[in-house]
Amino acid sequence: MFSFSSIKDYQSLLLNGKTTCTEVVSSYLQNIQANKHLNAFLEVYEDEAMQQASLLDKKRETGDKIGKLHGVVVGLKDVIAYKNHKLSASSKILENFQSVYTATVTERLLHEDAIIIGRQNCDEFAMGSSNENSAFGNVLNAADNSRVPGGSSGGSAVSVQANLCMISLGSDTGGSVRQPADFCGIVGLKPSYGRISRYGLIAYASSFDQIGIFSKTIDDAELVLDVISGPDDFDSTTITGSFKNNHHEASNKEYTIGYFPSTLEHKSLDVEIAVAQKNFINQLSNYNLKIKPIDFDLLEYIVPAYYILTTAEASSNLSRYDGIKFGRSSPSTGLTEKIESTRSKYFGKEVKRRIMMGTFVLSEGYYDAYVTQAQKIRNVLIQKTKSIFSEVDAIISPVSPTTAFKFNQKNIDPVEMFLADIFTVFANLTGIPAIAIPLFKHSNGMPFGVQLMASHSNELILLQLSKKLIEIKNSLNN
Ligand code: GLN
Repeated sequence: MFSFSSIKDYQSLLLNGKTTCTEVVSSYLQNIQANKHLNAFLEVYEDEAMQQASLLDKKRETGDKIGKLHGVVVGLKDVIAYKNHKLSASSKILENFQSVYTATVTERLLHEDAIIIGRQNCDEFAMGSSNENSAFGNVLNAADNSRVPGGSSGGSAVSVQANLCMISLGSDTGGSVRQPADFCGIVGLKPSYGRISRYGLIAYASSFDQIGIFSKTIDDAELVLDVISGPDDFDSTTITGSFKNNHHEASNKEYTIGYFPSTLEHKSLDVEIAVAQKNFINQLSNYNLKIKPIDFDLLEYIVPAYYILTTAEASSNLSRYDGIKFGRSSPSTGLTEKIESTRSKYFGKEVKRRIMMGTFVLSEGYYDAYVTQAQKIRNVLIQKTKSIFSEVDAIISPVSPTTAFKFNQKNIDPVEMFLADIFTVFANLTGIPAIAIPLFKHSNGMPFGVQLMASHSNELILLQLSKKLIEIKNSLNN
């Protein structure tokens, strides 16, 4: 039975004739079948994946040049477009909608010989932190089926966790790649805003949205980032140049890692997570890293600013789902009635809540009190970030205040769910790259790790330091 450890090892097995793409894809298909109860995939492209596998096997046999992601089995969150394939954002309003074009990321994956195995379940329109908002049912955490996988990219995280694919692409507007990665014990990378084209990504909050990568190793995340990132004529917010050009110092440089004592003392943070973070941070100075505490007194502002600005953007972005342009349509006649009944019937509860919040904060009379204030906070955070990164190379923090929680534990009170985004939304408000690295196991049996953040465009330092932290953790275990 094939067992996946890294893309590099897998590709050397392929090149040495020890396995084939066909064999590997069929073993993933069996695994998906055996783990159907996890509900990670909304759709599996069995025939297509097998066909692509056999084409790739032939390509190797004939000695043709192979792509960087040759044979890599990838799943896509159900917000990333793939022409002539369904795309629903896990919403009833787009049920059975077929994409009419292919996202830039999907195009780039295919161009480098990846195999797309299916479309993954998520929170409706990527709004949520537990995958409990999908119109197509909960995704179960494979480490403990009574717990959530995190969200909104829950299906994508569980697919990598449970070996249903090698890599998943998700989207991260406020933590939706990093938090489920943390809950599932895998790597989750959110690059800088603009690093990866959003062309073909269903918009939630356009000035925050960024496609991210789930993988088992940092090297794999780096390789996939290399393939899917870079400028794109279809997205004017993409940044020029490659993340690889950015930088840099010799690998023996003494890097400085900053941390916010205010996050480690935060009342919402699980005690065991706080202790693990503090102990780990204290060890880092023994490994040629400088540690620097940073005053940060804006923690209480970031979740409100995030939810004001993202719901405002969402209320505008989601106005296109009117039952007329695309997606499902209620049979009512009359323009207003049709729009009203389509949106009432086919949007889920959380999406409606956010559209209403967003419309409220954007309305005349409230705009200045909410949106303008939140924008000011965002600007202050961006300035603060610049000054922080003039002193440190990276910031370390928890990913989430708790490990994966039980179903129905937090979805009763939306504010409680929102507040749990406290450590992840900072990177989206400021556009900086951030990564969740799995390092620890809680006494409740669930994984958790740390988050690293770097300055804008500095994915390379982020990835290098991530590897270093994993090495340090391994040496501490020995
Ligand atoms: N939990 C956050 C929210 O619900 C993050 C979502 C995301 O990153 N897509 O908005």
